[in-house]
Amino acid sequence: MLVTNKTGDARIGHCRICNAQIAPFMSFGRMPIANGFLKPDEIESEYFFELAPAFCDACGMFQLIEQPQPEKMFHQQYAFYSSTSRYMQRHFEAFAHAVINGPLAGRADPFVVELGSNDGIMLQHFQRCGLRHLGVEPSANVADMARNRGISTVTTFFNSKLAADISAEHGSADAILAANVMCHIPDLPGVAAGVQRLLKSDGIFVFEDPYLGDMIAKTSYDQIYDEHVFIFSATSVRRAFAPFGLELVDVAPQVTHGGSMRYTLAPKGSRKASESVDQQLTKEAVLGLDRAETYLKFKTNCESSRIGLTQTLERLRGQGKRIVGYGATSKSTTVINYCKITPEQIEFISDTTPIKQGRLSPGAHIPVRPYGEFLERYPDYALLFAWNHAAEIREKETGFVAAGGRWIVYVPEIAIVS
Ligand SMILES: [Zn+2]
Repeated sequence: MLVTNKTGDARIGHCRICNAQIAPFMSFGRMPIANGFLKPDEIESEYFFELAPAFCDACGMFQLIEQPQPEKMFHQQYAFYSSTSRYMQRHFEAFAHAVINGPLAGRADPFVVELGSNDGIMLQHFQRCGLRHLGVEPSANVADMARNRGISTVTTFFNSKLAADISAEHGSADAILAANVMCHIPDLPGVAAGVQRLLKSDGIFVFEDPYLGDMIAKTSYDQIYDEHVFIFSATSVRRAFAPFGLELVDVAPQVTHGGSMRYTLAPKGSRKASESVDQQLTKEAVLGLDRAETYLKFKTNCESSRIGLTQTLERLRGQGKRIVGYGATSKSTTVINYCKITPEQIEFISDTTPIKQGRLSPGAHIPVRPYGEFLERYPDYALLFAWNHAAEIREKETGFVAAGGRWIVYVPEIAIVS
């Protein structure tokens, strides 16, 4: 979730991190809010912006040129509750225990702060261990859920001022954590200043987000949508936090969200960097993440992916096949709108989230229907929008394949699989 209220929502011509001049290397075109599943009477007022990423030559940060106002993306009805996914529950339990048994081990009365703590999916593990904790969560509905479960949470945005207030009330933090939050924050330097202010001189800042290296390697361009104003690499993270006296001391790849990276930062000179940092920086140089031509190649790969998917859908439609989308994900909005997928090609999108059912997909207005309708009458093909959960889904949907159904996937390439 977004954790700052200072935004760069207008189209920018300068890097959000280092202020060097930047320009988009491609455009995905006119794009609606990725999570903006709408009712039929909301079509007229639907909001669009241009989804165009840029790469900063000077600091290596991959970023969006334009991001909608935060109130257009995050609001009271914010549909994403972290704890609804059992898989993510296990992931955050492991994340919490890695911190408790690692850097916090042996510390007297440690204090942990999580930025964008959602419904408390991660902090609950600190609470259960009796550790002092505080969540910072600007979305009121999910923050209320956390408080109802006994997890200390403040409903506000994180910045340097709040960091000073927290510090005055609770003392400095031994650990500051964030998961799938930092990449949402346009004013990253403002949050970095807050982290610097709140963290103990021997504290750690650990965050994880979708990883640029995976996106480039897999052409998983659906990571690019309004909420993800940045897609990080070890190279860009190291450079972005250095001006705030924070040093990258560890990196650890994660399988979540189709490929993520966990970054650990610490006040400069306070702890020795693990070998993983240099190894990752070398890998990124080999992959060309620090070079502009890599992104031109990525652009070409996105275009090939779009052509391949469009042709596949048209071919199957020409054969009279029924195609249904599987998973009304935020990621799917970029794919559907960039590839100009229509309700004629995809009958509906099946999703288990009640708040999305009966609504229309952003931009293309493909109906979202309950998962039961997928089960009741299997389509010939299911377009797997939730590809990052492919293993779990294919295990669950053996009945669909047994009935002759096939999956259409587009990451890392277009394929029809059983
Ligand atoms: Zn820059």
